[in-house]
Formats: sequence, structure tokens, C-alpha cells
Amino acid sequence: MNTLRIDASSLADSQREVSPASVLLDVTAEFTVLAAGEPGEVDRHPRARGARRMDRAGCTIIPGLVNAHAHLDLTHVGPLPFDPANGFSGWIDHVRRSRLTGDSEIADSVARGAKMCLAGGVVAVGDIAGAVRGLPSLQASRALLATDLKGTSFVEFFAWPPREADVLDLVSMLPSQWDGRGRVRLGLQPHAPYSVSIRGYGLAQVMGRDFDLPVCTHLAESVEEARFIASHEGVFVEFLRGLGLQTGGGQRAPGAGRTPVAHLEPVLHERPMAVVHLNQLSDADIAILSASRSTAVYCPRASDYFGVPAAMGPHRYRDLLDARVPVALGTDSIINLPEGTTRLSPWDEMVYLFARDGTDPRTLLAMATVHGARAIGLDPTHFALRVGAKTDALCVLTSDSLEAALGAGADLAVIRP
Ligand SMILES: [Zn+2]
Repeated sequence: MNTLRIDASSLADSQREVSPASVLLDVTAEFTVLAAGEPGEVDRHPRARGARRMDRAGCTIIPGLVNAHAHLDLTHVGPLPFDPANGFSGWIDHVRRSRLTGDSEIADSVARGAKMCLAGGVVAVGDIAGAVRGLPSLQASRALLATDLKGTSFVEFFAWPPREADVLDLVSMLPSQWDGRGRVRLGLQPHAPYSVSIRGYGLAQVMGRDFDLPVCTHLAESVEEARFIASHEGVFVEFLRGLGLQTGGGQRAPGAGRTPVAHLEPVLHERPMAVVHLNQLSDADIAILSASRSTAVYCPRASDYFGVPAAMGPHRYRDLLDARVPVALGTDSIINLPEGTTRLSPWDEMVYLFARDGTDPRTLLAMATVHGARAIGLDPTHFALRVGAKTDALCVLTSDSLEAALGAGADLAVIRP
């Protein structure tokens, strides 16, 4: 009775599409794929006889999904329209003031966000554990451990003079304070190049190597960031001053004329890192990301929420893919998503990109599965419908092919053991 067979109109993963299709699963605490392919091929597996059967005619089976960038501890804020008059730094300031501080309220917000991920077929998340009172904190990481998601909890930190050394001391203690086991990995997120010094990034990379921690960062997100890094001008000067961080006279531009990606180039080369947003990239930036084996994370609806394409041009995710940079999909926080959002799923990002750009369906599926796994430090082979893959869930699209499901913006159901 611990064998389940699902018959469907088709199956799809990042490598192939098969129609008609069957999937044979060992069902214990999780699914293990025993066979997947044409029904006749699955018939030949010794455990096919006597398997419990589930008929999903007219549907398409795809792997469980990876949401490579989320801020589940901001779920309590809910969707919020962006006010261009306040700008990007005004928005960040608003988020900072909305942050919770108590263990139980943070746990509630993370639990709500996790439910919204699970409802969207997400099995693994790259979640950002936000700073609490400006300091790195494991509160949201422990909250993620209490949910049914697996993945990596990236502890966020801000490290800028004059508080740089104190914060980095706290960051260096995180691995010894993390008691999580198994389903949730600890990771680090230096927040962004305008709030973390090169020394702070260097520490994250050294700790990543020494403690086997995935590292990610926000990078090349806004016009304001590019201006601050290149010339130490603009609203981020005021923003850092508001945080009580050094921006006084004599401060040099952090990147001295360079782009945010070029500014981080030496750090990126130390160890592959996940870099989130990349809303503005030059050809030279893309070459740096490719040579450093970085993984990109793109949050399409969040980028458009900030009006990025109007200010910075279309996102270059397809140029990144052409340059062999894996591009994963994230939802970012619920704040950037439309009113009425009920789930936090890369499936909705795939539908959005298919409608906007007509991107190849299997490329979109790779972005929401194997590339996402790589971005958050999980084994990509578990996010494909291939023998031996282990997963908490499979997704069922209510259309007879992946392309038809994307075109129709089809709904998604989740099958769990
Ligand atoms: Zn983020």
C-alpha cells in the first residue's frame, strides 16, 4: 500500500515532456520516484502491480517547486501599493518599521507565509530571516523550522561603519547558535552592497566555506543603488544617515565609478553565491556573473512592482541564461504582490513571464525547480521527475500540457504523501 501510481495526460520537468504519462511513487514520509514516463514503461516496474492508482486524466504532473527568494517574516504586512513619490528607500524604510520583534509574532508571520507557499506547490524555500532591531537574528530561521517547508534560512545582516565590527561579531556566532537539523539549512544574506561593506561580504564568504552555508544577497536592484555605489550620491546617503550609519564628509564612493556587480566582483569569485534581483546589468556584469558561477534569482512581479522596466529597461534573465548563469524564480515578499494574493508560488511567476515574454515553458520550469535548488544549496536532482528523486509533493496542473497550462494561467493542485 505504500506505492502510488498517478496516470495523467502528461508529465514535464526541466529535461523532458512525456504524453501520456504515469508516475510511480514510493510513499512514506515523502515521495520517492520509482518510475516516471510513458504508461507502458511504468507498467514494467515490479511495484506497478498492486499500486494504489490515482487518475489525473487531462492534467499535467510537474515536480514540487522552489521559491528561491521569499521574506516570510513580512507576511503579516500583506500586499501594499508602491508609492513612487516615496521612492525605493522610502519603501525600505517602511518595511523596516513594519518588522516584528517578538518570537511568537515572527513565528505566526512565517507560518502564514509558509502555508501560502505550500498552497502554491512549493516544497523548498530560500527564506530571508530579517534583522530584528537592526541586528542579525535566528528568530525567523527557527520559525521556518517549525513549518512543513524545507529549504534554507538566509540570516540577513547590515554591516556598515561604524557598526560594522559589532554586527560581524554577531554574524560569526550564528553557526554555533543554530540548532536546526535536517530540513532547514542555515545560510547568510549580507543585505545589499549599499548596507554591507566589502569586509562584511568577505566574512560571509569565508563563513560560507568554513561552515558550508549558502550565501545570497540583493544586488543591482535599483537606480538608487547604482548611483550610491558608483558615486556615493542620492537617497541612500540619507537612508544610511537615518540608520545612524556613517555617511559623513570624506566618505568615498563604495564602488568608485563601478556598477554594483563590478563592485562585488572579487567577493563573487571567492565562492558561488546567489544574487537576487539584477534589475540592471551591463554586458560586462553578465560576464562577471558567468565567470564567478553565480546563480541569479529573479522575482518578476516584484521587479515590475517597483516600475523597474520603465526606469532600467527589460530584465535580462534570458541573456543571463544564454551566458550559462542559472536563473531561479522567487516571489520576494507578499508586500510586492497584487492585492488578493493567496499564495507565494513560482508557478504564478512562470505564468506571468509566459504571458509577458512567451518564454519557453521548460526553461520556465527549470527556473522554478532545478535552478532554484541550486540557488538555495539543495540537490537539484530531487526537483525532477526522475528515478530516485525524493520530494514532499508533486504539482498537478489542470491542463493537458505544460504549455497549455501556462497559456491558460491554469490552476495548480498539490499531491502529498
Ligand atoms: Zn529580498
